[in-house]
Parts: sequence; C-alpha cells; structure tokens
Amino acid sequence: VTSRRTFLQTSAAMTVGAAGASQASGATEKSATAGKYSGPHEMPANVTLLSMRNADGSETLGVRFGDDAVLDVRKGSQLLGIAAPLTLEELLKEGNASGLDKLIAAARSSGRARAAMVKESAITFGRLFTNPGKIVCIGLNYRAHIQEANMKLPSVPILFNKYNNALAAHNCTIKLPPRDIAYKFDYETELLIVMGKQARNVAEAEALNYVAGYCTAQDFSARDLQLETPSVQWMIGKTLDDFGPIGPYFVSADLVGDPNNLKIETHVNGEVRQSSNTSSMIFNPQKLIAYITRMWTLEPGDIIWSGTPEGVILGYPKEKQVWLKAGDEIVSSIEKLGALRFKLA
Ligand code: MG
Repeated sequence: VTSRRTFLQTSAAMTVGAAGASQASGATEKSATAGKYSGPHEMPANVTLLSMRNADGSETLGVRFGDDAVLDVRKGSQLLGIAAPLTLEELLKEGNASGLDKLIAAARSSGRARAAMVKESAITFGRLFTNPGKIVCIGLNYRAHIQEANMKLPSVPILFNKYNNALAAHNCTIKLPPRDIAYKFDYETELLIVMGKQARNVAEAEALNYVAGYCTAQDFSARDLQLETPSVQWMIGKTLDDFGPIGPYFVSADLVGDPNNLKIETHVNGEVRQSSNTSSMIFNPQKLIAYITRMWTLEPGDIIWSGTPEGVILGYPKEKQVWLKAGDEIVSSIEKLGALRFKLA
C-alpha cells in the first residue's frame, strides 16, 4: 500500500510540475494513520486554520496559535505520534476534530512540538480547498448591489457555480487570460460558508448548526464573459483558473458567532471600493442553506459563496468603468475572518 501511495503522490507531483505554478498541487500527504478514523463525525471548534504550501508541493494544515505562530499539523503529527487530519477537507469530511484537538493540546504542552512551530510570516499559503464536492455561488444577494447592477430583486436565491480549477490561495497571483478571451475584470468580496455536516431539507432555524466555519473569499469575475456572451452565461465569467481565491483563514463557526453582522470590504491598490456588512444580505446564510438543501444534499466540505455587496466596477457609470488589470493588488477583508490578498498578472 505504501509503495502504491508513494507512486501516486510522485506521479501527482510530476503532473503538477508539468502543469506549471498556477495549477497548484492537489497532492496531500497522508500520515500512516490518517484515513482510518472511525469515531463520531465532529466539526472543528475553537480553531483558526490555514493551509501551508510545503517545499514538496503538498498543501497541508496549519493551526494559528497566536499572532505569528502556527502549528504545522503534518510535522506536529509526526513528532508527537498523534494522528490528525492533514488538510481542511480531510478534517471536514472525516469529522476527526478530536484528533486535531488532541494534537493541539499536546503541542501546547509539549516542548517536543517546538520544531513543528513556524512563523506565519514565513509561510507560503496553500489552498484551503482543493476538491470540495460542491461549490455553490449566490448571485445578487445584496440590495444595493442589485440596484447598481440594474437587475431585478430575486424572489429566491440565484444559484450558479465555480469548478475546482478556480480555487486559489491567499497571496496568489491570478494570471489573467488574453484580451480576446476577456478583459472586463471585476472584484466581488464574499463571505464563504463552509459546510460541516450532511444537510438535506434543513430548516432555517437549524441551518447554522450545519456550518463548520467561514472564510473570506473572492468571486473574481470577467463581466464580458458573464454578461455579454450569447444567452448570458454567468458561470463562464466566474470560473476561469484561479478566479476563486479563499483565505487566509478558515475560522470555526463558534469563533465567528453570528455571521449576519460582519463588516465586509474590498481595497484595490489601497483604495476602498466595497464597504458593507453581511447584515445587508437579502438571503442570509440560514435562508441560503434552507433553500439549497431543499434542492439537493450538502456534504461536509461543500462551500457556498454568499454574494457580494455594492461597489463593484460593473456598478459604476459606463464612462467610469476602469476594469482591473495586470499589476493590480486586491485585498478582500471580512471582520473576524482576515484579509485575503491577491495580485493580477
Ligand atoms: Mg458573486
């Protein structure tokens, strides 16, 4: 089994090398005991997590201990001999929050874990999500954004999707496509809802019990592809490679509390462009989960982009629309969740 696993990892790493830097590695290393967890399915609590991109190309979990201190979960798990999920998706899908908690407690109290502590400022961030079962996106979910976009107030949530190729890391660089493909690039900062339990026909009043946590995310958009292609296909303007950066953190739901009162902002090259609050959503996270799970089952690790507030370039008067371009730096921030940064090239 070990040699086969090694082979699979090696071939995955080679594929990644051939595909270039923007197609980051989907390979994740498993510890000897990972994947064998069979205890109760538990969601993470009291944790702020991140993804570290390692020298071998793998992306593994880090736990934020303090302002500039991160526990490298893979290294800690090896040093202390405690099995723990090595990626956020493994944690959410297996439900082995107790394994992570055990590792965190041991690392806090044992000097042996010192070699597994790294400075956050020295980390290359990896993707928090590489292979979610579903990526659901919500369109037109803030009233003032609907007005600026000249659209009609929806009576039910408008759903579309991204694919895994769009998933990108904090501090990433989005390589813009050539101009004949698209050039009307725009930002959309959004609260990302991360599911932690299987959910089907969930009532609004129960919906937040199914949420593992939240992240800051960007629904990066090419407006020409989204709105000017025949028959108006939103999806193609939303899921080009790396058009969905997420991060820097996953913050567990208990640490966030009410998701319906969080300041949400976008800065472009230091200038404020969006400044609103999640309280202005038309369909709040509870309503979104209730609506979506009437249609289909949501699984642990599924993620939901919950819509963007006003202030996007699309909403400017036509003569003032200056689309994003190579060299621009975007910062998306949401209260309690941190500031997601990325560049365009
Ligand atoms: Mg959006």
